[in-house]
Amino acid sequence: MTRLTQAQTFAAGKLASDPTHGEGVLYPPEQAPYYLATGDEEQIFEQCHLRNLPVMLKGPTGCGKPRFVEYMAWKLGRPLVTVACHDDLTATDLLGRYLIRGNETVWQDGPLTRAVRLGALCYLDEVMEARQDTVVVIHPLTDHRRILPIDKTGEIIEAAPGFQLVISFNPGYQHAFKDLKPSTRQRFVALDFDFPGADREADIIMHEGGVDRGTAHDLVGLATRMRELHDQGLAEVPSTRVLVATARLIAGGIPPRQACQVGLIAPLTDDPALRDAMGDLVAALLVD
Ligand code: ADP
Repeated sequence: MTRLTQAQTFAAGKLASDPTHGEGVLYPPEQAPYYLATGDEEQIFEQCHLRNLPVMLKGPTGCGKPRFVEYMAWKLGRPLVTVACHDDLTATDLLGRYLIRGNETVWQDGPLTRAVRLGALCYLDEVMEARQDTVVVIHPLTDHRRILPIDKTGEIIEAAPGFQLVISFNPGYQHAFKDLKPSTRQRFVALDFDFPGADREADIIMHEGGVDRGTAHDLVGLATRMRELHDQGLAEVPSTRVLVATARLIAGGIPPRQACQVGLIAPLTDDPALRDAMGDLVAALLVD
């Protein structure tokens, strides 16, 4: 109970000022993050939350994974602590460290510890980027024990009610030397994410990009053709995110073809042949 009260001390939408704490956000009831469901991910996530099951979100970059977690945090009324994983991230960064303050040595919680105490959703984005010896610190939180041992302080923290671990990764980036251990993977319920169907993606682009339905559909049509170029060597296909960015440029008055050049084509590839192929698609499918 005390811990839940502590959770309420998160000011609405306020980001923690200390970066080692990660971002802690409590979405006010009247400020729902915009998220358009593409299947039954909401219901499954809710069940996982009720039953203390950690969740992994798998899918390409830019298809809405963090947005989904923000939306679920809002829906469940829990604070959200997000950690962007990278290969220099250490267990200490997640758990916390002693800091010297004046003449004193004080313990400062890392983002994982903070989320465990608060009963927050803790979202480890692109978890595959982190080293395996970092990732193993989450193991005792992912089974019935729901504890976080902190060797440096000798504390064993029981996760407060509402705490839930969520991780995400892009299976397209998987390398033989960079995968989650099977012993880690099997601790999670897995939700597959992909780009939404054409009508839903157009709705998202209209909402997020501020363009009319016709323009949103044109952009989705273009993306559908460009995604086929994956087989011809385009490593990163256009995501919903780049379509939203391009739509925003168009909504701001940049001519559509130019917006596609700078918002859609140039960010994706430097290969001249692929850029030409994408430029041809833009010329064929969009009128300026
Ligand atoms: P990812 O981690 O998959 O890169 P993001 O949540 O950052 O995903 O998605 C990128 C952007 O795409 C979001 O900021 C949002 O504008 C848009 N988006 C993608 N999918 C959805 C969705 N289902 N509902 C609402 N917005 C979405």
